[in-house]
Amino acid sequence: MVNIQVPTIKLNNGAGMPQVGLGLWKVDKGTCADVVYNAIKEGYRLFDGACDYGNETEAGQGVARAIKEGLVTRSELFIISKLWNSFHDAERVEPIVRKQLGDWGIDYFDLYYIHFPVSLQYVDPSVRYPPGWYMDGARKEVVRGKATLQGTWGAMEALVGAGLAKSIGISNYNGALVLDLLAYARIVPQVLQIEHHPYLTQAPLLELCRREGIAVTGYSSFGPQSFLDLGMKFAEDFQALFSHPVVVAVAEKHGRTPAQVLLRWNTQRGVAVIPKSSSLERLRQNLDVCSFDLSEQELKDISALDCGFRFNNPLNYGIPVYNFV
Ligand code: NAD
Repeated sequence: MVNIQVPTIKLNNGAGMPQVGLGLWKVDKGTCADVVYNAIKEGYRLFDGACDYGNETEAGQGVARAIKEGLVTRSELFIISKLWNSFHDAERVEPIVRKQLGDWGIDYFDLYYIHFPVSLQYVDPSVRYPPGWYMDGARKEVVRGKATLQGTWGAMEALVGAGLAKSIGISNYNGALVLDLLAYARIVPQVLQIEHHPYLTQAPLLELCRREGIAVTGYSSFGPQSFLDLGMKFAEDFQALFSHPVVVAVAEKHGRTPAQVLLRWNTQRGVAVIPKSSSLERLRQNLDVCSFDLSEQELKDISALDCGFRFNNPLNYGIPVYNFV
């Protein structure tokens, strides 16, 4: 087992969250159990899953094997999942969480998020699971639901009382939605998960969260890369961050890879990261991103690449979000 030190972020309820973990979006079902098991062997403790990723059962198998072999205990892991848009009605929340826990083979989540601030019409899991964005599963219709975010948050708070989630969070909320939530929340979210990379630095939202005691996790830390994987044409209009001269120069100076520099830029901004990779070499690289420091100037130079561009764009809700052919 590799001994890489990962800092812990103290959440507003006193829980500790590793600052670096593994994202499970697009991790193939066929390899997911092995990827999770290998990641635990490499020292990963935090796993960022979701109903929508369609691989929670397999991820749970990787966890179970690691626990069975004595590599780790459940309490040393930080397992995350998310509420899909089709389950926002308050009465749907607990049943779907119980199903997701069953898929993982565990009895609580360390953190459970509202995945998107978007309510879609309910889809019975026995009909289609995960439901995805499309009501018919055939990339035709995205059908709005009627749940309000306030109602859904109440049901999220109840998960804590029921012992099904130790911490609860929100994802893809902007500043206005966070402020609205703060007006009614009995439990202030422990974490906000947002897209965050040098092309989308989100400084005001980070500052709002800092003031309100909400930790921030950044996703798609490599900017366009994740969306190139999906074949989204518009991602090709952006200079890949891995070969951007500013990032490459910093990487060469520190003897690190551009990926490590991008992750360190995140973690030095106080943001937690969950890069996705299935390769052992990259898993290693991505975990070792707090053992060197970028200078203030380097941080500024990278932040100056900001162009406010969001690849995972909520403005596209209601039209085929991932219809990028
Ligand atoms: P990412 O930024 O982690 O990029 C993944 C891509 O980078 C893949 O092509 C991978 O092979 C490549 N990569 C990984 N490590 C590398 C390395 N060291 N060198 C070179 N290439 C490398 O993208 P992501 O998957 O979009 O985001 C990470 C995680 O965030 C997801 O897996 C998921 O858990 C979470 N996420 C959440 C939301 C949300 O709506 N809350 C949205 C997107 C992603």
